Amino acid sequence: MNKRGQFFPKRSLGQNFLINPNIVERIIASCDLKPTGTVLEIGPGKGALTHSFSECSQKVIAVEKDDHLAAQLSETFKNTNVSIIHADILKYSFDELPDNIKIIGNLPYNIATPIIEKVLDCREKFRAFYMTVQLEYGQRINARPNSKSYGSFSCFVQYYADTKILFKIKNSSFQPVPKVQSCFLKLEPLKSPRHKAQDEKCLFRIIRSCFGQRRKMIENALSTIVHKEKARELLKISDIDPKLRAENISLEKYVRISNMAVKEEADGRKIFIN
Ligand code: SAM
Repeated sequence: MNKRGQFFPKRSLGQNFLINPNIVERIIASCDLKPTGTVLEIGPGKGALTHSFSECSQKVIAVEKDDHLAAQLSETFKNTNVSIIHADILKYSFDELPDNIKIIGNLPYNIATPIIEKVLDCREKFRAFYMTVQLEYGQRINARPNSKSYGSFSCFVQYYADTKILFKIKNSSFQPVPKVQSCFLKLEPLKSPRHKAQDEKCLFRIIRSCFGQRRKMIENALSTIVHKEKARELLKISDIDPKLRAENISLEKYVRISNMAVKEEADGRKIFIN
């Protein structure tokens, strides 16, 4: 706010407010809200979506960091089914939330990744996580093998959740107009991973190492963490072509490599450098 009481959007909080009523309608239609359900809204801003969430759900918990917007929203939604929490979503505890909630947010772009990590960490609590994110970022999350967008974050998210881009959103739907296009993305947590890693830390270490050198053949990319002579052996017993590159390898195959490495180590054969 300036001295004359005018509100200026803060770039540091990723404040690009949704102004296109058609997109609001599409978002509401896609989220399939139930009159008995609870919604956790991340960053309600000026409430573009909050009013509709309130009409379609039993309860809305909306977490907003901006002092001025939080105060304004608290006034607007006084004595309604919307609770405005003035907090940073990254510090807000999910422990007290009811089970089976839907989380929805037009995410501040600069903290989208830690938000997604936090939500996936408590994935048993929620039914679905819907979010507006930059199109390119959404495409990375949703990417499948053999594409340029496929990377370690695609694998991380898809290990825990099904992902789907529901629709694209033009930048003119927001005020101020961002430089890039956006999309509306859905994450639906899996009850358990489709291909279970015996050691998830080991799985993601392998994945990060391979994508850290995505132009190299997997055999060489692995050798930053695996003894060089063991890398080929590990790929052979995992039945994976050592000449493939990180982007050609499915999550299932990464899990296979990781589980094989864990087994080899358990049998006393040293695979990892340290
Ligand atoms: N949902 C509104 C809309 O669609 O018009 C606003 C979306 S705007 C892209 C992001 C919102 O998240 C802003 O209101 C911003 O103040 C809020 N925000 C930014 N960082 C936050 C944080 N760490 N915790 C909670 N809210 C945050």
